[in-house]
Amino acid sequence: MKLLVTGGAGFIGSAVVRHIINDTDYSVVNVDKLTYAGNLESLASVSNDPCYSFEQVDICDSGELKRVFNQHQPDLVMHLAAESHVDRSIDGPGEFIQTNIVGTYTLLEQARAYWSQLQGDKKTNFRFHHISTDEVYGELPHPDDLSDEGLVLSDELNGSQEANNSKLKTKNSTPPLFTEETAYAPSSPYSASKASSDHLVRAWLRTYGFPTLLTNCSNNYGPYHFPEKLIPLMILNALEGKPLPVYGKGNQIRDWLYVEDHARALVLVATKGKIGETYNIGGHNEKQNIEVVKTICSILEELAPEKSPRHSGQTNRHSGLDPESPTGYESLIKYVTDRPGHDMRYAIDPSKIQRELGWIPQETFESGIRKTVQWYLDNQAWCQRVQDGSYQRQRLGV
Ligand code: NAD
Repeated sequence: MKLLVTGGAGFIGSAVVRHIINDTDYSVVNVDKLTYAGNLESLASVSNDPCYSFEQVDICDSGELKRVFNQHQPDLVMHLAAESHVDRSIDGPGEFIQTNIVGTYTLLEQARAYWSQLQGDKKTNFRFHHISTDEVYGELPHPDDLSDEGLVLSDELNGSQEANNSKLKTKNSTPPLFTEETAYAPSSPYSASKASSDHLVRAWLRTYGFPTLLTNCSNNYGPYHFPEKLIPLMILNALEGKPLPVYGKGNQIRDWLYVEDHARALVLVATKGKIGETYNIGGHNEKQNIEVVKTICSILEELAPEKSPRHSGQTNRHSGLDPESPTGYESLIKYVTDRPGHDMRYAIDPSKIQRELGWIPQETFESGIRKTVQWYLDNQAWCQRVQDGSYQRQRLGV
């Protein structure tokens, strides 16, 4: 079986490609434009495999997509190519509209044209898997805003948000989770563009009978993550003794999933999921951002004590003055202005994919974050090379 993966040079796409080549008998064609976020170096371990091929193509280019479909004759499509960073979508939403909406439309149309002329089993078994995010659901109530009965206390929530919350799953006083039935309420240009692409994919199924399925996943972390995202940014800044910028109070909650667990889930859904279905993917790892940052700091104290400000004495201005003041890597934490429209909490109910497809994550947050920190310590040359001249870990999306 041949899988056409878009965005296979990105963070999650490269984990999917490595998983396909290392752990399955499938072959894969990686279709990627190689934007700032796409790096072929993330695929160095598999790129010489005879089951791997690469096409540098923009998913907005219908002519090139047509050629790729005809030349490679894939059995299924996994669509991950996207602009993916919320802060960049605030500074420049245009690229997000172009790639995430127009690109998905263009890919759907070329995939449909290819599928329409297939015959027999090749046509019956064809499928188009669209990879999306939990951010399309908007924000969940934060535990700080919930009463003991799980009721939303904040009167700041607007009408649509309240309507959304009423459909969210509540169990006694357990804060609600996103299910596959949660209504869409995206907040950022990024999540709005992903929501639009999800709607297109479902419309192509309903209108044209084009065999699509969808997944919505929580925040991923792990190796090969571009250093603009929270976890790699904190690790790399800490190692250089630079400030660790934490947005707002740092109490925003994300539900973290190790990227290789996501990759396994995606290939499972693409090959075994039911056409027309949506599967939410998450690891039940809700953490406040500040908790994540402090965990990274404490792992670094253990794995890289020689670079700690505690060790080098760079921030010893605190010591002896106030015993409550953080020391070591934690002393680098700096609270900065929050992101505009920042969602307070995301959390996934993954019971459907667990029940129907038997997927469960293999990593806990504790094991995954330790592996991740170790990976960045071992691969600092990769981090240097993927950051071109235009991105120097500066604040975006203010
Ligand atoms: P990424 O930004 O790391 O990678 C995106 C890839 O798409 C890059 O290789 C880039 O070169 C490529 N690309 C961008 N525009 C393109 C275009 N016009 N044509 C062809 N290729 C193009 O993103 P990621 O974090 O790996 O996310 C992959 C997908 O998973 C996205 O659709 C994203 O919305 C979704 N997702 C991400 C997360 C997360 O935590 N990162 C969580 C849930 C869902």
